[in-house]
Amino acid sequence: MNAMPSVNLPSVALVIPVFNEEAVLPELIARLTAVFDARPDCAWSVILVNDGSRDRSVEVMLAAHARDQRFKLIELSRNFGFQGALAAGLAATTHADAVVTMDADLQDPPEVIPDLVTAWRGGAEVVRAVRRTRSETGLRRLAFDLFHKLFSALSDYPVEPNSGTFGLLGRPALEAFNRLPERHRFFPGLRSWVGFSRADVLYDRQERAAGQPQQTLRRLIRYALDGVFSFSYLPLRLLTITGVFVALLGFAIGTFFIVRRLLGIEIAQTGFTTLVTIVLFLGGIQLMGIGVLGEYLGRVYDEVKQRPNFIVKKRTGLD
Ligand code: UDP
Ligand code: MG
Repeated sequence: MNAMPSVNLPSVALVIPVFNEEAVLPELIARLTAVFDARPDCAWSVILVNDGSRDRSVEVMLAAHARDQRFKLIELSRNFGFQGALAAGLAATTHADAVVTMDADLQDPPEVIPDLVTAWRGGAEVVRAVRRTRSETGLRRLAFDLFHKLFSALSDYPVEPNSGTFGLLGRPALEAFNRLPERHRFFPGLRSWVGFSRADVLYDRQERAAGQPQQTLRRLIRYALDGVFSFSYLPLRLLTITGVFVALLGFAIGTFFIVRRLLGIEIAQTGFTTLVTIVLFLGGIQLMGIGVLGEYLGRVYDEVKQRPNFIVKKRTGLD
């Protein structure tokens, strides 16, 4: 079904990063098509961003484009990671009045999209899809919960703990987002940062329809660190406070022993254990401090290098 996009209809583009998703793509495309056909009051388009898949994902997506021109494809030159793929898709949505960001694995159910659009038509510029339930369990779940506790304690721009990438950006919010030059992007944090009127839509998070999670735990941890370090100076402030506290303590202890010596209460002792403990303790604190500084410095270095977040190899269906 190729609905002709009409000039009068609001145009809604979906941006979906895809990495090795050949197992879920057919169902994703079928369910999206069903949603579009049920809502002819919008001009729909889908920008699938192939993030260097090593399976047959590209073939499946090209076939979808051949059947239905609403499905468009951007191929990146290699795997840039979810944030790079998302940025590539968002940068290509110049034609849309609103953009829906979602995962390919059907954990974000396509059937929720009309609710997002309704909230947007109702006046919200930024719509977040908020999970009523989470499907992750075990270690992953624990890590997610821990991160969100940490992030809300640290950040000046709180994010809804039960929201991820899934949501909608209206034109003004999207343009603000596309103008952000930064490389280390933490999407939920930036969505909170850009402002605009917002609305939340509740939904039930699904299990992955097929395949394995493509984001390794290591990647998720890196993403979480980006979240903390790009939205908070608190780690630096904590260091300063620790430094001041340790220095004051050292001064107090020093004064105490000097006074005792001067009063002749005590003669010098070897104190080997005490010395070793103190040296190791301070050494540890200093190394931690250098590590925290390094986290910021590395990010500054990445920004200064000005390398793009993604490189496009080929576009299909986009001018
Ligand atoms: N993804 C991507 N590049 C990557 C890893 C993942 O574009 O390097 C895509 C993936 O195809 C999916 C979305 O990002 O559409 C979320 O990935 P996944 O489901 O593996 O992550 P999780 O649900 O654990 O956050
Ligand atoms: Mg997933």
